[in-house]
Amino acid sequence: MLIVFLGAPGAGKGTQAARLAAKYGLPKISTGDMLRAAVTAGTPLGKRVDEIMRSGALVDDGTMAEVVEDRLAQSDSAPGAIMDGYPRTLPQAHRFEELAARIGDSGVDLVLYLDVPEDELMSRISHRSQVVGSDRADDDAEVARERLAVYHRQTAPLIEYYREREILREVEGTGSIDSVYARLDAVLAEAVRA
Ligand code: AMP
Repeated sequence: MLIVFLGAPGAGKGTQAARLAAKYGLPKISTGDMLRAAVTAGTPLGKRVDEIMRSGALVDDGTMAEVVEDRLAQSDSAPGAIMDGYPRTLPQAHRFEELAARIGDSGVDLVLYLDVPEDELMSRISHRSQVVGSDRADDDAEVARERLAVYHRQTAPLIEYYREREILREVEGTGSIDSVYARLDAVLAEAVRA
């Protein structure tokens, strides 16, 4: 079963994807985590993407396809995966369909769109920078705003793309972590039964 998480940066995808992955026995594949690990380890990939990630821009689709293809080839992905942060552009979504077909999956089964209103996202971003409270925090807030702009430009079109395919489920992302989790779990449980 292939599940994709969609949502703006700060919507809580990573936290929720990890909990659902544990419950449903699927690996959580977070491309952001994988790229950060590559940067920390100083691999050639890490060196290539470091600057791009710092700026809040997206890594190119070709590189991302390789990263995801390698990860999905690992044995723990045989039953499927919960994708956190991929696909993030329309070309990535197309590539992902091809890739899923090649590894014997019928395609993306379910897309969970974690919907958090813009003003809530902005207040989460500025709250974080106030908590840290330094010049660096202002830079971070600036990058966070850039990431939000990139999300609207390049990732938000995927909502319509998956809605047209009738696999999108919209889940309200406001409220406590537990209440958001309960909503997501209910949707997933229903999809697993179907
Ligand atoms: P995340 O932790 O998912 O917000 O990802 C952190 C950063 O990694 C992003 O701002 C991008 O620079 C890069 N990244 C992660 N996933 C992708 C992707 N699917 N396509 C392009 N860049 C990505």
